[in-house]
Amino acid sequence: MEKTVLITGASAGIGKATAVYLAQNGYNVYGAARRTDKMQDLETYGIKPIALDVTKDESIVLCVDQILKEAGSIDILVNNAGFGSYGAIEDVSMEDARYQLEVNVFGAMRLAQLVLPKMRENKFGKIVNMSSVGGKNSFPLGGWYHASKFAIEALSDAMRREVKQFGVDIIVIEPGGIKSEWGNIAFESLRHVSGKTAYKELAAGVEKFFGATTNSLPEPVIIAKLIKEGIEAKSPKTRYSGGYMATPSLFMARFIPDKWQDKIIASQMKS
Ligand code: NDP
Repeated sequence: MEKTVLITGASAGIGKATAVYLAQNGYNVYGAARRTDKMQDLETYGIKPIALDVTKDESIVLCVDQILKEAGSIDILVNNAGFGSYGAIEDVSMEDARYQLEVNVFGAMRLAQLVLPKMRENKFGKIVNMSSVGGKNSFPLGGWYHASKFAIEALSDAMRREVKQFGVDIIVIEPGGIKSEWGNIAFESLRHVSGKTAYKELAAGVEKFFGATTNSLPEPVIIAKLIKEGIEAKSPKTRYSGGYMATPSLFMARFIPDKWQDKIIASQMKS
């Protein structure tokens, strides 16, 4: 039977590409985001756009209720919505730090809470949590973004060990660089928060490092393919990774001593 999927962050980048790819492969897809105008084109693929702000509980509850009413179940949840709140930890306001975690962590976990009862009842479900290679590496001026992705990694491990008994799989995706709106949003916050402070030179170095590859990054469909592989595997891997520099970044986090990593990162992020 056709499986129903809810994908958050479906108005752009990875979420949009995944919505289209899964719809083309026979899934009943609901795409959710704040900018519903950016999801109108998804209707040509049979995807149903839904307004969702993952920082607002009433919006999350309404979204899940609507799908459960229409489709009867949410078999697969792709927790993809997210952004990078950048700037030195000394400079980022506590309000911005909290908002980063609201979007990238609490929103995703609230959705998981709401879809799990039906998944347990059906003894079937897949929850895909979008982490990043930044869920294993922590680069300067991205502290709160990395904190959010490290949190996704930890919560996914805990949840996987909680819900396996109910036939539910938790799958973590760790993309490296992927072409999307992500970079511009992160650079804008970086310039705004630390572009004129004691960290301005480091900010210029970080933007130069990430910005150098922006135009040559792979298309988001490569992550859509990984997600499809994960949700269709009988026994999915706990983590899937792909995208620019994903393999070396994950290797560095796992095998290179911290102080060597410090030197490598400092040498790459000079302005
Ligand atoms: P984009 O900026 O292109 O897309 C982000 C999506 O998240 C948009 O659809 C946006 O929709 C949605 N979103 C942001 N805030 C909210 C909110 N409050 N409520 C609901 N939706 C929201 O970025 P990507 O496609 O690149 O990012 C997708 C995920 O992949 C993120 O979690 C990101 O951290 C992760 N990632 C991306 C990498 C990359 O190189 N691109 C690398 C590693 C991980 P709207 O604004 O309409 O609400």
